[in-house]
Amino acid sequence: MEIIRTPLEMTAWANRVLATGQTIALVPTMGFFHEGHLRLMRKATENADHAVVSLFVNPIQFGANEDLGRYPRNFSRDCQLAQAEGVDVLFAPEVEDMYPAEAATRVIVSGLTDGLCGESRPGHFNGVTTVVAKLFHIVKPHCAVFGRKDFQQLAVIERMVADLNWDVKIVRHPIVRETDGLAMSSRNTYLSASERHAALCLFRAIGHARRRVRAGLVEATVLHREVEELLRREAVIIEYVSFVDQSTLRPQAVLQKSTVLAMAIKVGTTRLIDNDILFEEH
Ligand code: AMP
Repeated sequence: MEIIRTPLEMTAWANRVLATGQTIALVPTMGFFHEGHLRLMRKATENADHAVVSLFVNPIQFGANEDLGRYPRNFSRDCQLAQAEGVDVLFAPEVEDMYPAEAATRVIVSGLTDGLCGESRPGHFNGVTTVVAKLFHIVKPHCAVFGRKDFQQLAVIERMVADLNWDVKIVRHPIVRETDGLAMSSRNTYLSASERHAALCLFRAIGHARRRVRAGLVEATVLHREVEELLRREAVIIEYVSFVDQSTLRPQAVLQKSTVLAMAIKVGTTRLIDNDILFEEH
C-alpha cells in the first residue's frame, strides 16, 4: 500500500491509473478505523480495480465547541488495517495542503442540510461537501463508498453529485454494529462503561420501532412519543427523534417504505447518532 501525503501526488497517481483504463474507488474517512470503515474498504476493493482511502480529520466540518482537538487518531494502526484490506493508497494530506490560506471556495447544498444534524451543527455539512468535492477532484474516483450510519451526509452527498452532474457512483453501505447493537463509531471510544451501556437505548428504540411498524402502526406522532419515552429511561439528552423520507429528509406523518427513523442523543459529552429504514429487511 502506498501512502500519499499531497494532493498533487495523489492526482498524479490517479492520472496514471486512469491512463491505463482502470477504475478507482474512494472511501473518505477521518481515520481511527473500526470494523465499519474496514467493511467500506472491502466494498471499495470489490467495486473498482484500485481502492483509495482518504484519512483527513477535516477541520472545517467541526464547530467551535466540538471535538476537533481531541478527535481520536492512530496513524500507524490505521495504515496496518487499511493495508490488510487490500487498499492500494492511503491518502493522508495535511490541513495546509487541503486549505491553503488563500482558499475562498465552499460547496453548499441547501435545504437538506438545515434539519436533523444541521440544526445543532450549523456549517457542518458545508464542511463535508467542500472536502468531499475536493477529494473527488483530487482522487478522480469512479465510485465512492459511504456508510448509511451518517445517513443525512449520504443524502446530501447524493444531492451534490446529482446537482453538479458528477460522474461518480455513490455506493451506500449498511450500518455496521457491535454485537450488542451499538453502531460503530470512532467516537465510541469517548464513552465510559456506564455511558456505553446507556447508549444502547438507540438500538433498543430501533427494535421497538421496527416491531411497531410490523404490527401495523402508521402514525409517526405515536411512535415518536414511544421512542422518546424509551430513550428517556437512560441518562441521555435527546437532540432529535425524527421520521423522515430517506432521500428528501422531509418529515413524514405517515410511516411508509421510505421512512427513516433518525436520532441524535448526547451521552455525557459524547454526541451519538443512529438511524434505521424501518420497513427494510435486515
Ligand atoms: P468517519 O471516519 O466517521 O468520517 O466515517 C467515514 C465513513 O465511514 C463514512 O462514510 C461513515 O458513514 C462510515 N461509517 C462510520 N461508521 C460506520 C458504521 N458503523 N457503519 C457503516 N459505515 C460507517
